[in-house]
Amino acid sequence: MKPATVRPISYAVVATLALVAIWFTPQLEKKQVFALEPVVVSRPGLEPADFLLSPIFVEASNQELVDTLAIGGVITSNLYNALNESGQGVLPPSARHQLAWSLADIFEYKVDMSRDLHGGDKFHLLLERLQKPNGAIIVNKILGAKLALSNSQSPIEAINFDTKGSNSAHYYDASGMSLRAAFLRAPVAFRRISSVFGARKHPIFGEWRNHTGTDYAAAEGTPVRAIGDGVVIFAGKKGGYGNMIDIRHRNGMVSRYGHMRGFAAGIRPGSQVAMGSTIGYVGMTGWATGPHLHFEIRVDGVAKNPRLALESRSGEPIPAGERALFQRMRQQTLASLNQAHLVNAE
Ligand SMILES: [Zn+2]
Repeated sequence: MKPATVRPISYAVVATLALVAIWFTPQLEKKQVFALEPVVVSRPGLEPADFLLSPIFVEASNQELVDTLAIGGVITSNLYNALNESGQGVLPPSARHQLAWSLADIFEYKVDMSRDLHGGDKFHLLLERLQKPNGAIIVNKILGAKLALSNSQSPIEAINFDTKGSNSAHYYDASGMSLRAAFLRAPVAFRRISSVFGARKHPIFGEWRNHTGTDYAAAEGTPVRAIGDGVVIFAGKKGGYGNMIDIRHRNGMVSRYGHMRGFAAGIRPGSQVAMGSTIGYVGMTGWATGPHLHFEIRVDGVAKNPRLALESRSGEPIPAGERALFQRMRQQTLASLNQAHLVNAE
């Protein structure tokens, strides 16, 4: 029992600390809020200040544990396996399985994960790992990623940065340009492409001579998405293409989708379509011996390599007033990324 003369002073100190804690709580990361719990809760004799601290107690007792984790690897067979291996011991299988899809989503305007990756390509990921009150561990957010592809000179960076007023996760490249560009790199979501789980080489189904496009093997009925905003200029049957859609984009480029089982509701010549919207479904109409999407990029009526036709498009820059902050965050993220142990490196 402490002398009565000391108690009012310690209450005042505790109350002040509590006010400071409450004042800063909204500005703290979850993990820092959590860190208050052992400090504040375990302190004896707090009863007089409980009314001040109770909001923190409630938050802390239901709190989720968050930390950051850097992983990395070298692709030997495919991205899915590489991420699965690099996350072993630090993430449960369910969380590891999501990583390839999440990474593909982040880079979906830059990299066609089913086409552009090769053995020896390296990746680094910085992620926020979250443990729920029930013990389940998930990947809450990917804070940064770096892909070093053998077919591009410099690594492609994706730095998570939320500009003022934005309400969803945005990723920017090294120069602060949004990875979200005018065109998706693939007309079928990476998670839907069946060859990811198969052999190293992409199986080619039912092709005819002088093939000018890219084929995506996927289950019949898989949604096909418009790679960019545009207007449907053809939707119908066309020879070996089977059910085919042509979309003209603002820059005059045309994207072509063939062998479809059918078209989405409302898709007809003249329809406006938005990037990412479903225009039809994978099938095997026309000259195809198995379900797949045939995809082409055409400029002035001539088929072009989609990788070259689409790769130079970059998105919006970070507002000038936030660029210095972005570069500081980027340096921190890169420093953390580089700590990742490369699982498959020799
Ligand atoms: Zn084809």
